[in-house]
Amino acid sequence: MKILVINAGSSSLKYQLIAMETESVLAKGTCERIGIAGGKLTHKANGKEFVIERELPNHTEAISLVLKELVDREAGVIASMDEIDAVGHRVVASGEAFTETTLVTDSVMKTMDEIAELAPLHNPAAILGINACRAVMPDKKMALVFDTSFHATMPDYAYLYAIDYEDYKNYKVRKYGAHGTSHKFVAGEAAKHLGKKPEELKIVTCHLGNGSSISAVDGGKCIDTSMGFTPLAGVPMGTRSGDIDVAAIEFLCRKKGMNMQEGLTYLNKKCGMAGVSGVSSDFRDLTAAQSEGNYRADLALKMFGYSCKKYVGAYMAALGGLDCIVFTAGVGENTPCVRKAVVSGLEAFGVKLDDGKNEYKNDGKIHDIAAKDSAVRILVIPTNEELVIARETAALV
Ligand code: ADP
Repeated sequence: MKILVINAGSSSLKYQLIAMETESVLAKGTCERIGIAGGKLTHKANGKEFVIERELPNHTEAISLVLKELVDREAGVIASMDEIDAVGHRVVASGEAFTETTLVTDSVMKTMDEIAELAPLHNPAAILGINACRAVMPDKKMALVFDTSFHATMPDYAYLYAIDYEDYKNYKVRKYGAHGTSHKFVAGEAAKHLGKKPEELKIVTCHLGNGSSISAVDGGKCIDTSMGFTPLAGVPMGTRSGDIDVAAIEFLCRKKGMNMQEGLTYLNKKCGMAGVSGVSSDFRDLTAAQSEGNYRADLALKMFGYSCKKYVGAYMAALGGLDCIVFTAGVGENTPCVRKAVVSGLEAFGVKLDDGKNEYKNDGKIHDIAAKDSAVRILVIPTNEELVIARETAALV
């Protein structure tokens, strides 16, 4: 079975064609600058990279070009589109409308339109991608795989905000979380690596990238997560503030002459690591500046490590124990000093890092970086959200 995984942004479209028997990637690529001048497709297959520079006025043109490449004599990996068994779409937010992977139908798409306002930066783009695929491949089965699904098992006392309960009921304002496919994948891989069943384990998963979130996973089910109603909550991120007293926002808006929308843009785009450091949102730049003695880069990294550590501690309490901490995503997989900052000081709770193992060179494999006598295993696991989307899609169709 072959599954085409689609991750559509407002001006980009990423794809992978995955053969499920071997779970191997046959081809992958990205369409950039959709709807703006300078469209480009970068397609990787058969050990080569193919770049096509062509205007891509909309997502339908982009997906048509992708399909053409997939069956192309040189760049292609399949003889015809019939070989694609189904399409899996990544969707950021599901609200309470969908708690699991769902087949695309007209009525599902109507609900998708209704909940688009929950993730205004992401869901409308996913809808463009889905509609484009439906237009070009009307007969293919398609699945929606939601970033929020894995968090649907959170208990009400964890996902509710302490606002008027009627407002939750009327407007569905609550915590939904994000990065669920990644948390799910690494929690499952951790269990496999440790030779245990997921039901036997209490795990804290740290997805640390440009956007970051931390989840508490009890027996394979998410019981809490750091992101909230939107991906702005939780630990500080590349350019997002993370948790902040909302009264401080009203004060800042007043002082800086921003309206609510501008205030939110400020919190999403100008804060976090970039805002604190004044250097960059990129952890590679931050660690480089830190080693040159830059105070604010050092401060930003310390704030990040401290905030993550507090979540790990809180989730240890929520779980009532801990077997394993997992690090994943760009920063989690590549930045030893961040991993060290997150777990240092937790020795009294049975978390003991092996400094030598922590400094390993990333080879894309799973590494256990805990000391031999650590009661809690510390794993670094490369995430693979596309594979989760493909697996969920294959299972559903
Ligand atoms: P997102 O998917 O949220 O955009 P990623 O998971 O790709 O983010 O993480 C991006 C972050 O990972 C950047 O801050 C980057 O500095 C950091 N990073 C550190 N080392 C590497 C590396 N070798 N490759 C990729 N990203 C890295």
